[in-house]
Amino acid sequence: MKAVRSTVLYGMLAISIGVLWNTALQTPCSRVVKYDIGEFDERFGITKELFLAQIEHAEQPWETVAQRELFQYVPGSDFMVNLIWSDEQERLYEGNTLQNQLDTKQERIDTVQTRYQSAVSRYERSVREYEARLNAYEADVSYWNAQGGAPEGTYQELQVESSALESKASEVNRLLAQVNAIAEENNERVEEYNEGVATYNDLFSQAHEFDAGNTDGTEINVYSYDGNQELQTLLIHEFGHVLGIDHVDDPASVMYYLLNDENHDGVLSDVDITALTERCRL
Ligand SMILES: [Zn+2]
Repeated sequence: MKAVRSTVLYGMLAISIGVLWNTALQTPCSRVVKYDIGEFDERFGITKELFLAQIEHAEQPWETVAQRELFQYVPGSDFMVNLIWSDEQERLYEGNTLQNQLDTKQERIDTVQTRYQSAVSRYERSVREYEARLNAYEADVSYWNAQGGAPEGTYQELQVESSALESKASEVNRLLAQVNAIAEENNERVEEYNEGVATYNDLFSQAHEFDAGNTDGTEINVYSYDGNQELQTLLIHEFGHVLGIDHVDDPASVMYYLLNDENHDGVLSDVDITALTERCRL
């Protein structure tokens, strides 16, 4: 199951920053943005060192294209990169927990269904055996009745077979009861699973989009991300805004307003590179 989740990568003040730079006859790339880590919420479960490593790694795509240093970690700088806990992250964690529970439930359902298939096979085999013996028995009885009765020995044998058939019928019924019990267990588990899916969907249905991060040109705020790759792409995106790059229309670009399957890897597209080239007059 895949979460229906889109992340809005947000940056409103990029344009005004650009205007400011233009009036100063500078390009956004002509100075190095020195930053420090500001607010850092440990509930994200990432160390400060790893967070910093992620930020420094996110500088590289832009710096490689510009062929110069654009960002630099300098403790004590005014520009802050903040990691701020949010309801979205809370919800994301809750969603991941639910997802794991659903995976476990799915595995249990698979196990029950395997047991069900075995039980059905045993039942069907038993039915076939029973029917074959019953047919043979009934044919014998008809034959001897047509003869006006069976000899004593044969009669006794038919009585024994009749009792055996009753036992066999009980076995068939017992196996059928097993099949039904497993089917019931399966239905309960599937119902439980579906309830879990409904809860999961509710969790993400109220707001499909949210602000994972933003920047006003004086700081970057990271509010929510799912995994290191998403954090990386988010940081590259926000760094792009800090450079004065606005959103682009191409979903495969890092500077697209949504984080999605196409731009999730954080690789700059030609559109991203053109945006930087124009912005920085490279
Ligand atoms: Zn953005």
